[in-house]
Amino acid sequence: MAARLGAQVTIVDRDGLGGAAVLTDCVPSKALIATADYMSEFETAADLGLHLEDAAGEDVTDASANLAEINARVMGLAGQQSEDITHRLEADGVRIIRGSGRLVSPTRVVAISSDGEEEVLDTDVVLVATGATPRVMPTMEPDGERILTWQQIYDLKSLPEHLIVVGSGVTGAELAQGFLGLGAKVTLVSSRERVLPAEDQDAAEVIENVFRARGMTVLGRSRAAGARNTGDGVIVKLEDGREIEGSHVLVAVGAVPQTRGIGLEDIGVDLLESGHIVVDKVSRTSVRGVYAAGDCTGVFALASVSAMQGRIAMSHALGDAVAPLRLGAVSANVFTDPEIATVGLQQKDAEGVTTIDQVMMPLAMNPRAKMLGISEGFVKMFCSKGSGIVLGGVIVAPRASELIFPIALAVQNRLSVDQVADTFTVYPSLSGTVAEAARRLHQIAE
Ligand SMILES: Cc1cc2nc3c(=O)[nH]c(=O)nc-3n(C[C@H](O)[C@H](O)[C@H](O)COP(=O)(O)OP(=O)(O)OC[C@H]3O[C@@H](n4cnc5c(N)ncnc54)[C@H](O)[C@@H]3O)c2cc1C
Repeated sequence: MAARLGAQVTIVDRDGLGGAAVLTDCVPSKALIATADYMSEFETAADLGLHLEDAAGEDVTDASANLAEINARVMGLAGQQSEDITHRLEADGVRIIRGSGRLVSPTRVVAISSDGEEEVLDTDVVLVATGATPRVMPTMEPDGERILTWQQIYDLKSLPEHLIVVGSGVTGAELAQGFLGLGAKVTLVSSRERVLPAEDQDAAEVIENVFRARGMTVLGRSRAAGARNTGDGVIVKLEDGREIEGSHVLVAVGAVPQTRGIGLEDIGVDLLESGHIVVDKVSRTSVRGVYAAGDCTGVFALASVSAMQGRIAMSHALGDAVAPLRLGAVSANVFTDPEIATVGLQQKDAEGVTTIDQVMMPLAMNPRAKMLGISEGFVKMFCSKGSGIVLGGVIVAPRASELIFPIALAVQNRLSVDQVADTFTVYPSLSGTVAEAARRLHQIAE
């Protein structure tokens, strides 16, 4: 974008264009989960009257996942996307230096290329977008063989017999269900009472019930103290003394920003104790001319928000029209099955607020859901009492990430529940429940 606005741009990047989002985090995890979703279809096919038969005419109920093939495809996709990004940037005239960057002043970056050459880059503007890396606990040091971070699972050549997932936040929950869907035995260790503690609690309850119904062992209120590779397996020790034996453990206990040792503090950039860079709504740091975007700021750890912060920073720095970051309209999705999609104001914000109305419509009553064999899930919508302006929503459904868009449009453009309700939906369609939720809110607001 900065190049298209006329700036001369150099990117210094260590691990590959597209960053962790493309190479190790979003893209590979979502590709692996898409494969697991296909596997799950086999399990429910019989409910729709479909039977796969072997040559002898016997019902086939099991499909098997070849993790080496799946991982090869997933990593191929990630590599291809990184290459596409590289070509697009080169076509826009961006210079790319493969290596590490360090700020020595607000207008000077030292780049050390992968072959060890040092180059001094003088600049008017710096954008720091160094991302974050998996949090490592000293008692559960990843070894890349049996004790794994989410970035190491793509090196596995065969499906873990019994995967223990430590951490039930978004990454832990998504990958636990992904591996369960591929056929691994999975135990999810959650330090909180319920999985996905930061999500809408009605949504998290649906997901936890689905996890258990599909055979995952979910250990709530169980904090892992350490993990040990025994050579042919792992033992995860819980703080209460229990021990769980498995073949592998995936540690998904959060991420830490990559902001230390790159000169930020030396030039006066304010960091939080957590290491995140302090930024304002147009991505400015405390030092003039130095901007920051993405997970290194800790504003909202999403690829979409990171990209928006970067675009805003460049518009601001180059004097283009700029609208400050609006977090109240961010759409996010948890790629479990069913998915949880959210936008804008959430239940925890509405709790005890008398000026907000809300409704929750189960999907099970929707005719399309019945046809598709969907029995779990719901649409929840929040609006401002009186004006009926849509403030936020939650959808739990297959492909909720696609279904949330009408609510996101309404939140972004301050549409009223009546405007949503009066919009035609296709019959039969899952989006019919979005319109129905809006209609119910009209009745409540009267
Ligand atoms: C498992 C998982 C799944 C996710 N799925 C989704 C999803 O589906 N949707 C979504 O919106 N978000 C998702 N996220 C979040 C998303 O991945 C991050 O928000 C996003 O990667 C942040 O982008 P970024 O540009 O800040 O950092 P990154 O993508 O981490 O990129 C940072 C880049 O900086 C480089 N770098 C670091 N230090 C230096 C240095 N000193 N010199 C040079 N280069 C350096 C790194 O090599 C890297 O290329 C997921 C996260 C995880 C962990």
